[in-house]
Amino acid sequence: MTRTLLDVAQEASTCTKCRLATTRTHVVFGVGSPDADVLFIGEAPGMHEDKQGEPFVGAAGQLLTRMLGDIGLTREQVYIANILKCRPPGNRDPQEDEIETCTPWLVEQMSLIQPQVIVTLGNFATKFVLQTQTGITRMRGSVYPWHGRKVIPTFHPAAILRGGGEKGRQFGELQEDFALIKRTLTEPEPSPPPPPVTSLVELEREVAEQPAVPDDQLELF
Ligand code: URA
Repeated sequence: MTRTLLDVAQEASTCTKCRLATTRTHVVFGVGSPDADVLFIGEAPGMHEDKQGEPFVGAAGQLLTRMLGDIGLTREQVYIANILKCRPPGNRDPQEDEIETCTPWLVEQMSLIQPQVIVTLGNFATKFVLQTQTGITRMRGSVYPWHGRKVIPTFHPAAILRGGGEKGRQFGELQEDFALIKRTLTEPEPSPPPPPVTSLVELEREVAEQPAVPDDQLELF
C-alpha cells in the first residue's frame, strides 16, 4: 500500500541519518494541504521552527504568509517544506552531505503531493530542484519546466528581510514573482495531464540521462 504523507512524516520524526539529529529539538517535516497545487520549498528550519516543529513560523514565515495572502492563498491551501528538515546549529548553511542525506524526504513529499507548481525560495532550494549553479538573482522572474510541471524560483523571505524588507530593492521583485505564481496557477490545465513525479531513483536516472543544460541557456526557458 502507498504510504501517506502522514506515514512519511511519522518516519521522519525519528530520523537520525545525519549529525543534525543530535542538535535539533523537532524534525520540521512540512505543513499544509497534501493535495496542494503549489509547494513552497525553503532552506532549513530556524530557531522558531525548531522549537515549534513547523516551517516558516518566524519573521521570514510571517513575510511568506503575507505574500501568500497578497495572491489570495492561505498556508492551509499550499504545502510548505524545506530542503533540510532539521535546524543547522546557529542557522549555518546546509552542508552538501546533509542535503544529500535529507532530500529523499523532500522527493517523497513531492511524489505524494504532486504539485503543479513548485516555488523554490532562495539558492539552496533552487539549486537542488533545478540542478543549477546559477544564483537566485538570475534565476528568479521566470517559470522553468520540470517533469511536466513548473518551477518558479524567487528570493528567500529571510534575504528580503535582511535587505530592508518592504523598503529594500528586491521587495518589488518578490511581489512580481508572487504575481507570476498567481498567473501560473490560474492558467488553464495543460492537456494531457502531466506525468506523475517519479520516485527518487527514477528521478535521479532521468536527471543523469538528460544532456547538461549550460547555465547561460537556462534563461531561454
Ligand atoms: N527559513 C527557511 O528556509 N525555512 C524555515 O522554515 C524558516 C526559515
